[in-house]
Amino acid sequence: MSDFLNVSGKTYLVMGVANKKSVAWFIAKSLEEQGARVVYSVRSEARKKTLESLLADRPVFICDVEQEGACEQLAAAVAQAGLAPLHGVVHSVAFANYSEGFKPFHGTKRKDFLQATAISAFSLVDLANALKPHLARHASVVTIGISSLQVTPDNYGYMGPIKAALESCSRFLAKSFSADTEVRFNVLGAGPLKTSASAGIPGYIESYLYAEKLTFRKRNLETQEVANATLFLLSERSSGLNGTTLVVDAGLGSNFFDKDLIRLAMRPDK
Ligand code: NAD
Repeated sequence: MSDFLNVSGKTYLVMGVANKKSVAWFIAKSLEEQGARVVYSVRSEARKKTLESLLADRPVFICDVEQEGACEQLAAAVAQAGLAPLHGVVHSVAFANYSEGFKPFHGTKRKDFLQATAISAFSLVDLANALKPHLARHASVVTIGISSLQVTPDNYGYMGPIKAALESCSRFLAKSFSADTEVRFNVLGAGPLKTSASAGIPGYIESYLYAEKLTFRKRNLETQEVANATLFLLSERSSGLNGTTLVVDAGLGSNFFDKDLIRLAMRPDK
């Protein structure tokens, strides 16, 4: 079979594996299955330890993107280890402090909003800038966004606006890198998944089950489907896509008027 994606033998940095359910893990595993070399970046030494058996024999670096200078240190360490140039980067990182449970959006605390912005949106800019000298000319950078920035889920709260900032940052990076490179930046807009990040969102299970009913196929998205589409974005097969968002949501964003849900809402006894 021909190697359609042609990622074999290329090197990709994947940031954001926390466990076997992580979007980043599905992407990394799929890249490795296609013969690519994956360089990992995780949040902390403790996380690296818990991943010891999963990531055995792979290069694993530590980068807490909240810390000033951490992305520069990561870039220098990757280059020093002889792992550059990178043909692609996956930014699959987010954090929001939901420890106080559900709050109305206007009750968002400045400290929480700024911390989540630094980790979940600005880190893409920081990472791109630090890695710039170490990227192959046609490298592809993919960040994991959300499938719709228009909807306003109460329980997702201030992460909605921050994901909007992430998406905009990706577009601006695509423009600014175009001055002297052909590096592309795209967002994979994923629908609801089952991962540890989503488990931390107050009331997520109900939202997840509801989302399933909204998909055209009545079956929720699988993380592997997000990984598959990300591999396409990482590969040169998507060379015409830059500064855009590829939505992978099994149709749910187009299904406001699902007849079964309308029946349940209007005639719950039927
Ligand atoms: P996850 O918890 O497995 O991954 C989130 C990662 O962010 C973890 O590896 C965590 O260590 C990392 N992280 C948090 N703070 C960090 C910091 N300061 N420095 C470095 N890394 C840090 O959950 P996931 O669902 O795989 O999330 C990956 C991405 O997918 C996130 O951007 C998330 O918003 C996005 N996403 C998830 C869903 C979903 O339903 N799970 C849907 C759409 C988009």
